[in-house]
Amino acid sequence: MRNVKQSRFIGFLKRAEAAFSRMMHPEGYVCIGCGKELKEEFHRKSICPDCESELTFRTGKQCEVCGKYIESGVLCAACSEHPPLFDKAYAVFEYETLTKKLVIAYKDGERPWLAEYIVNYMAEYAAAMEINADILCYVPSSDASIRKRGFDHAAKLAKLFAARTGIPQVSVLKRTKQHKDQTKLTAAERFAEVSGAFALNSDSAGKLVEGKRCLLIDDVLTTGATASACAKLLKDAGAVAVTVLTFAR
Ligand SMILES: [Zn+2]
Ligand SMILES: [Zn+2]
Repeated sequence: MRNVKQSRFIGFLKRAEAAFSRMMHPEGYVCIGCGKELKEEFHRKSICPDCESELTFRTGKQCEVCGKYIESGVLCAACSEHPPLFDKAYAVFEYETLTKKLVIAYKDGERPWLAEYIVNYMAEYAAAMEINADILCYVPSSDASIRKRGFDHAAKLAKLFAARTGIPQVSVLKRTKQHKDQTKLTAAERFAEVSGAFALNSDSAGKLVEGKRCLLIDDVLTTGATASACAKLLKDAGAVAVTVLTFAR
């Protein structure tokens, strides 16, 4: 009997210790990369200066359209074979361990304040690359995913980006179906899979887009098929150019 009580007590102590540790070091206050406690000025960034210096900016020879790394020529094999309908896609960082952690922590709601950090890099990058646009759009999430996460992650990035850059944000697209994981599909299959997954969200949406250069915002560019499906709708509605900007790819 005493053993049961003792083990209960030990269990209680362990839980109390874990709760205390969480209280002292809330999730946001440790570095997302190395787990070290962060000084207060880095709390909103969630990353320590050492780990931040490891973020990999995308430099080197890239496909002129989608930004994929290429050895030679102008376009990657996928874009030569099946050109996407956006004009050019830019991504600030390589999508790897650290950037993946930042993006996931942001969109899964664990560290929602990371939106500011992500947008800060995107806005600085857009200024440095002289990316210009008349209006800002974003790749919308499905209703199911908004219900699950509680927010539309790309919409929030676009809103902050608009506030930061002064480019007016318009909400013209909606996602009509959630598509499956595209990574194992061929380029043609991916394009087929996402075509029809988006639509203009109102009859007047076209007017907001007509004759405009659109900047399409998303967190990550994977295959480009999703961005291409959105670009098609925007161009069909009269957009004169569609540039894509993501935090990583
Ligand atoms: Zn760190
Ligand atoms: Zn390409």
